[in-house]
Amino acid sequence: MKEIINVTKATLPSFEEYVEEIRDLWDSHWLTNMGPKHEKLRTKLLSYLGGTYIDLFTNGHMALELTLQAMNLTGEVITTPFTFASTTHAIVRNGLEPVFCDIDPNDFTIDVTKLESLITDRTSAIMPVHVYGNVCQVEEIQRIANKYGLKVIYDAAHSFGCEYKGKKIGHFGDASCFSFHATKVFNSIEGGAVCHNDEELWMKIYELKNFGIHGPESVMGVGANAKMNEMCAAMGLCNMRHIDEQIAMRKELVEYYREKLNGIDGIQLNVIQKDVKSNYSYFPVIFDEKKFGSSRNEVADALEEERIYARKYFYPLTNMFDCYAGQFDVEETPVARYISKRVLTLPLYPSLEKKDIDRICDVIYKCKK
Ligand SMILES: *Cc1c(COP(=O)(O)O)cnc(C)c1O
Repeated sequence: MKEIINVTKATLPSFEEYVEEIRDLWDSHWLTNMGPKHEKLRTKLLSYLGGTYIDLFTNGHMALELTLQAMNLTGEVITTPFTFASTTHAIVRNGLEPVFCDIDPNDFTIDVTKLESLITDRTSAIMPVHVYGNVCQVEEIQRIANKYGLKVIYDAAHSFGCEYKGKKIGHFGDASCFSFHATKVFNSIEGGAVCHNDEELWMKIYELKNFGIHGPESVMGVGANAKMNEMCAAMGLCNMRHIDEQIAMRKELVEYYREKLNGIDGIQLNVIQKDVKSNYSYFPVIFDEKKFGSSRNEVADALEEERIYARKYFYPLTNMFDCYAGQFDVEETPVARYISKRVLTLPLYPSLEKKDIDRICDVIYKCKK
């Protein structure tokens, strides 16, 4: 029986490294509530991700949701439907209305040429997504935001360690929210962070992730509980020691994939963006059935028969979710719809081997008609 290849595989330090990292928790009994590991990881991540302030969370979703809450936004937030459920849900769960902008057909981030026409007097913010580690058009987004007085909150869940024009991704916008979920480039088992440049926002978010507690006898905000615990922070500290090496391994695998799949009629590969340092977080491929001869679904099925599990990521679009049925018109985001129907993200993780990529590409070659 052939070995299973999943779309991703969580990166772990050696067992011994993790045990060594958590050993002192058995002395201190300090397991959560902004302990020493949380603080150490916070400092390390701030210099890696960029921005002046950082706070850590149980997960990326709570970073998004509480950052929106801390900004006291109202009305409409412009975003894209080509994302994970979390982005849209964070908006809706704050009592805000998502307004969906279409995406760029090459880098799959928000199409800035369509952004301005969606702004109304009810718009309070823009929430773009750095999809697959592709960086949004940050300069143009900021220009538009300044012109209309809008906040910009980036869903930076895919862009751990990315840079634009030599500047770390956490510097852009009013806030950038990261995910350290097990399946992401960097993980703390589950975890997340927000980076930004606003001291007042930092205090608000810090309180909101701990029930809104301001002092021993003062609760100022209707907060949640979204603190990162020490076991997760310890995993983060271990994984941080290997992150550059792991991104380098991803880069090499992506280059190998590109060599093997470049120039095939009906296959569109991810763009290589100018001025961007990528983290090689995903390897999306767009299959155009008319030219390739097989549809995305047929390729996915053929891979599955060989025990290779690629992922239709992102499909469906968030504006097509059952929980939002009847609320949005998917015809308004035709490019997102086109890409979503044709995209497949292929397996990619640091320990993937080139012979695995050979096996994956051989199945794809057989689907070419
Ligand atoms: C993973 C992800 C999130 C949510 O992060 P969690 O840590 O899983 O809560 C949000 N947005 C995008 C685009 C993601 O991929």
